[in-house]
Amino acid sequence: MRFSQAFIFTLRENPQDAEVVSHKLMARAGMIDKLAAGIYTYLPLGWRTVDKLCRIVREEMDRAGAVELAMPCIQPAELWQESGRWYAYGKELLRLKDRHERDFCFGPTHEEVITDVVRRRVNSYRQLPLNLYQIQTKFRDEIRPRFGLMRGREFLMKDAYSFHSSAESLDEAYRAMEEAYCRIFARCGLSFTAVEADTGNIGGSESHEFMVLAETGEDAVVACTCGYGANREKATSGPPPAAPPWPGALPPRPELAHTPGLTSVAEVAAFLGLHPAHFIKTMVVETEREFAVALVRGDDELNEVKLKNALGAIHLQLASAEKVQRVTNAAVGFAGPVGLGGVRIVADPGVMSLSVAATGANRDDYHLVGVVPGRDFTPHLVADLRLVQAQDPCPRCGKPLELKRGIEVGHIFKLGTKYSEPMGCTYLDDKGQQQPMIMGCYGLGIGRTVAAAVEQNHDEAGICWPLPLAPFAVEVLNVNPDLPGVAAAAERVYQELRSAGVEVLYDDRDERGGVKFKDADLIGFPVRVVVGKKGVERGQVEISLRRDGTRREVSLAEACGVVQELVAQGGA
Ligand code: ATP
Ligand code: MG
Repeated sequence: MRFSQAFIFTLRENPQDAEVVSHKLMARAGMIDKLAAGIYTYLPLGWRTVDKLCRIVREEMDRAGAVELAMPCIQPAELWQESGRWYAYGKELLRLKDRHERDFCFGPTHEEVITDVVRRRVNSYRQLPLNLYQIQTKFRDEIRPRFGLMRGREFLMKDAYSFHSSAESLDEAYRAMEEAYCRIFARCGLSFTAVEADTGNIGGSESHEFMVLAETGEDAVVACTCGYGANREKATSGPPPAAPPWPGALPPRPELAHTPGLTSVAEVAAFLGLHPAHFIKTMVVETEREFAVALVRGDDELNEVKLKNALGAIHLQLASAEKVQRVTNAAVGFAGPVGLGGVRIVADPGVMSLSVAATGANRDDYHLVGVVPGRDFTPHLVADLRLVQAQDPCPRCGKPLELKRGIEVGHIFKLGTKYSEPMGCTYLDDKGQQQPMIMGCYGLGIGRTVAAAVEQNHDEAGICWPLPLAPFAVEVLNVNPDLPGVAAAAERVYQELRSAGVEVLYDDRDERGGVKFKDADLIGFPVRVVVGKKGVERGQVEISLRRDGTRREVSLAEACGVVQELVAQGGA
C-alpha cells in the first residue's frame, strides 16, 4: 500500500480528552477517530491492527475447539426478562423500542442470545460439550467512557460460551480457554497475568481476569511471589496484625464520650488516646432492596464488592447524609452498631475479634467506648469485608502482598446453570433425565487489548508495535521523492517486498524526509527501509528497527531478503 493512498492522517496535538498514552498515540497516529463519547471509527491503520488481533484470536479459539458464529447486536427484551437481567443490569444497558413499542436492547454481552440458540437445538448429552464464539460489537452505556478504545461505549469483544453436561467437562473447557488466552496475549507480545476475579453482573462460581500490568490500569491487582494473584475487589489476605492492647481499665459497659465535631477515625482516636484499630468503622449503605450497615475495623477499608456479595445485592452505594441520619438518628461520622435496629448489620471478622472497641454512639457528637462485640451488639452476618492492603500477609503463603495496577483485557467465568436454569436450556442425560446445561463464558476486549499493547510498547516518539499487531510490518521511506533515481530504487524495494508477501507501506508522499521519519516513528512500523540520495548513489539502502533503533546499510539487491529475515524473526 502507498502512503499517499492509505487514508493516513497523523496529528501533531494530543486530543484534549486523552489522558493515557495509548489514547494519545492511537489518535495522533491516525488509527482511531472519535465520533462521540466512547464511540470511535477505526481508521484504516487502526482497523488493520484490530484485524491482526482478530486473526490471532480466531486461530487460538479454533485451536481450543471453539466454533465461530455471529449473533445480532439488537436483542429482544423478552430474553433478558427470562434471565432476570432486564431488571438487574442497570443503566449500562442501552434499551430501545421499535416502531411497535416493543422493548429491545443493544447487547452488552450475549449469554441470553446464545442460550436461546442452543436450547432450541441441543437436547442430548451426546451433543455436548459445545463452545461457540463470536467477535462482535457490544454497547455498554459506561458512566465514564474514557481512555480511547480502553473504555468505550461501543466496542469489539470476542465472546465465547461453552455448554456442558458435567462440571468436569466445564473445567476442561475453562482450562483450554485459559490456555488459549495465555497464547493470544503472549503472541501479542504483552506481559500479563491471570488473577482471581469477582463474577460481577455476569454471575457464576469461578472466574479469572487477564491483566496487562500498567500504571494507567483502572484495576488494582493483588499479587504474591508464590503465584497468588487476585483483583483487589476479590482479594483476601491472611489475618492482619491484632489491635494493640486497650490502654487503661476496661469500662464494664459502653460509656459515652463527647467528641464534638470529630467524625474521622483518626481524629477521634487521637482525641480519645486510642489506636485506630480499636475502632469499629460503621458505614450505612443502600442496595436495591434495603439499607444495611457494614462494620470494619477502624484501620481497615471497606471492600464494597465483598459487601455487595455478602448482602446478595445487585447494586450498592453509600447512603447519603440524609439517609444516614434517618437510619442512625445521627449525622455522618457518629454511626455505630450498638442499639441500632431496623437494618441488617454485616461485620468483618476483624471487628468480631476485637475484645473491646470504640464506635459511633448514633448520637451527634458522641462516641461509645468499651464496646464488646457479641455482648453489646450482634451482627446478622459475619463476612470478609476488608479491602486488602499492600504488605498484608498472602492468604496462601503469608508473605507480604504487593499491590499493582492492571488493565483487564480478558475475563473468563464458570457460569454453572445461572442462565440455563431460568431459560430452560436443558438436555437429557444418559438416564433420560432432564438437566440444565452447565455453562462457561469467556470475554476478551479487542480494542482494549490493542490499547494495552500500546501502553506497554511505546517511547517518546510514538508506538513501537509488536510485529504481530503492527498495521504494516515494514515501511519503505523515500527521503527524496523529487529525485527519479531514488524514487525508482524505493519503488523497486517496495515491489520486491510486496511480491514476497511482506506487509509493506511505501511512504511515497511528496513530503520532506523529516516529516516522514516523524510519522514513521509515531505510527511505529517495526522495520523501516530508508531509501535516500546518498545511499542510492552507492547502491545502498538503510534498514532499521523501530524498537531499538539499530540500523544497517545493505545493497539494494539484498534489501528484500534482509527485511524478510527480520520480519521472520519478529522485527525486534
Ligand atoms: P470492566 O470491569 O473493565 O468494566 P467488565 O468486567 O465489565 O470490565 P466483561 O463483562 O468481563 O468486562 O467483558 C469482557 C471483556 O470486554 C473485558 O475483559 C474487557 O477486555 C472488555 N471490555 C469490557 N468493557 C469494555 C469497554 N467499556 N470498552 C472496551 N472493552 C471493554
Ligand atoms: Mg464493565
